[in-house]
Amino acid sequence: MITVRVPAKVNVQLGVGGLRTDGFHELANVFFAVALGDEVTATPGDGVTLTCSGPDAHAVPLDDSNLVARAARLLAAHHGIADPGVHLHIAKAIPVAGGMAGGSADGAAALVACDALWQLDTPLDTLLELAAELGSDVPFALLGGVALGRGRGEILQPLTVDGTFHWVFAVADGGLSTPAVFRECDRLREEAGTGSSDTDVPVPEADPALLAALAGGDAAALAAALANDLQPAAVSLRPGLADTLKAGTEAGAIGALVSGSGPTCAFLVKDADAAAAVAEALRASGTCRTAHATYGPVPGAAPVA
Ligand code: ATP
Repeated sequence: MITVRVPAKVNVQLGVGGLRTDGFHELANVFFAVALGDEVTATPGDGVTLTCSGPDAHAVPLDDSNLVARAARLLAAHHGIADPGVHLHIAKAIPVAGGMAGGSADGAAALVACDALWQLDTPLDTLLELAAELGSDVPFALLGGVALGRGRGEILQPLTVDGTFHWVFAVADGGLSTPAVFRECDRLREEAGTGSSDTDVPVPEADPALLAALAGGDAAALAAALANDLQPAAVSLRPGLADTLKAGTEAGAIGALVSGSGPTCAFLVKDADAAAAVAEALRASGTCRTAHATYGPVPGAAPVA
């Protein structure tokens, strides 16, 4: 039996370029792995079967559309295993459809868990290629830490970070569809008259001030540089998120933004005590379902010792 722990991510910068002809957007995406995470346990089994536990388990599909099942089958196919046998259990703490790449994280964890269970010793570079086939956010969940993602987000450059940053995540009721949020981003750009195609919108670049804040371990500077181009779209689809962001800021967060495509909201705070206080205030505010205090960066998908 192998249990793999995998982090959720927050995008401390999510720069969204124009819509490309292949249907994707060019991104400048600074991924940051946080300790809030899932665990995927692989045990020998007949065929590929899944179970899931946790508060959002009812919202997780247990058929072949689950990234965990797809990851197991992809790894098996890569190694010519015709009839893979594994049972995978997902202990789910990452909010589902919450903009924290929970499904992608589980896919990365399943690659690592099956690789260990089947004693395949797949090189990391190959695992990263298989991860990119599964989805744009899966390679980062393998790496963890902090990384700049270019292209669809799958071309990764690890970044240097000094120290630990403290975060609070406010979990909303229900999820948001990532494609729907990108469509709303395009619609808002058209409405504003700026255009939404890759010939209208400049290619996004990583913000040097944000990279310096990470490298210097400067929470106040990072708070000032947090930026998410999808935030107006997420708030347009879920106007209540504006109240959540305000509640966290009033409770003492030094920075606030929608996490990825939302609807989870992320708050940067100055230390662990502030994280506990802001999480408590958010839970009492009535503007979210629950709130979690956590920290990062943490490593990517790895077996639990
Ligand atoms: P991202 O931030 O990458 O856009 P997200 O965190 O918003 O993703 P996920 O939790 O990954 O969203 O789930 C999006 C959808 O993917 C779910 O609604 C579900 O149908 C499907 N899905 C597939 N595999 C999983 C999984 N292991 N856990 C959760 N959802 C999964």
